[in-house]
Amino acid sequence: MRRGFDLFSVAGIKISVNYTWFIILGLVIWSLAASHFPEVYPDFDTFTTWLISVVAALLLFVSVLLHELSHSIVGNRLGLGIRGITLFIFGGIAHLGKEPEDPATEVKVAAAGPVCSLLLAALFLALYLILFAAQGDSPLVAVLQYLWFINAALLVFNLVPGFPLDGGRVLRAILWKKTGDVRRATRIASNFGKGFAFLLILLGLLQVFIFRNLGGIWFVLIGMFLQQTAEGSYRQVLVRNVLSGLKVRETMTTEVVSVDSSVRLDELVESYFFKYRFNSFPVVEGSKLVGIVDIHQVKQIPREQWASMTPKDVMHPISEELVLRPDDDTVEALTKMLKSGWGKLPVVAGDRLVGILTRRDVMALLKIKTDLGT
Ligand SMILES: [Zn+2]
Repeated sequence: MRRGFDLFSVAGIKISVNYTWFIILGLVIWSLAASHFPEVYPDFDTFTTWLISVVAALLLFVSVLLHELSHSIVGNRLGLGIRGITLFIFGGIAHLGKEPEDPATEVKVAAAGPVCSLLLAALFLALYLILFAAQGDSPLVAVLQYLWFINAALLVFNLVPGFPLDGGRVLRAILWKKTGDVRRATRIASNFGKGFAFLLILLGLLQVFIFRNLGGIWFVLIGMFLQQTAEGSYRQVLVRNVLSGLKVRETMTTEVVSVDSSVRLDELVESYFFKYRFNSFPVVEGSKLVGIVDIHQVKQIPREQWASMTPKDVMHPISEELVLRPDDDTVEALTKMLKSGWGKLPVVAGDRLVGILTRRDVMALLKIKTDLGT
C-alpha cells in the first residue's frame, strides 16, 4: 500500500490521505477556478471565484470522506475491523482487518457509501433549490449547485458494476452467492472494473486529442486510478483468500544458509554471495540470530578492508521489524516484508534461527495453489 499522511480519527477510524491527494486537490481547485465557475457564473469577481473553488473542493473532500466513513462504520458494525482509510480525491481504500466472510455482509458494506452520497446529493439539491428561489445566484448557491451535482456524480460513478467500485462489490457478492467461489467472483468483477477503467481512459484521450477538451484529463486520471485499484484489490483478495489461515511455520523454508558472525568479509563474498547468489544472509552466533547482512552494505566497504572486517561490522542488527515468528500469519508476514522492503525475513523461535520466509516462496506457493484451484 502506498504511504499516506495521517489527518485525524473519526469513530476510531484513522483518516489519512495519499501524498498524491494534495496535487489532485490543487488540480480540482484550479480547474474549478479557471474553468467551471467562470463558465457557469461569469459575474463573480476573481477573488470570489477562487474562494468558492477552495470551499467547493474541500466540501467535495468532505463528501468523499463521509461516503467512505459510511462504508467503514457499517463494516465495523459487521465485524470487519476497519482501522483506517486512505483517501484519494475520488474515493478511498479502507484498511480491512479481514475481508467480508459472506455475500450479505459485502452487499451491506458496499451499499452504505452510495446511500450516503444519495442523501448528500438530495440535501445539497434541496438547499440549492431553496436558496436559489429565495435570492437567485450567489456564491453560496454556486457552491451548493456544484455539490449536489458532484455527489450525484459520485453516486453514479460508484454504482458502475466494476470491482472495486461499490457496484462492482455488489456484482461480486451476487456472483459469489451464485457460484460459491469468492475468487472467481472477484476475478470477473474486477475484469469489469478494468474494462470500465479502460473505457474511461479511452474517452478521456478522445476528448483531449479529438475534441481538444482538456477536461478529458480527469477521465484519464480516474481511469488510471481505477485500473490500478482493480488490479491491486483483486490480488489482495487472492492473497488473503489463498493464504488465509496459513502460519509462517507452514510456509517458511527450514533449510537456511546462515553466516557465522566471525567470518571475514572476503570469505563472505567468496563462499556465500558468489556461491549461493542470494542478496542477503542471516548472521548467527551459534544458533542465535544476531543480524542480516546484505550485498549493498558489503559493497560500500572498500575491498582492501574486507579481510579485516566481519558481518558484525556491517550487518543490520536484529530488531522486531526484521524477524518473523513461526506462529505469525503468512499474510501479515508478507505485508511486513512489503512494508520493510525486504525480499525475505528470518524466522526465530526465542532468539534461535529456525527458518526463513521469502517473498518468492510465498508467491510460488500462491501460484501453485491458484493453479490447482485449492
Ligand atoms: Zn464507495
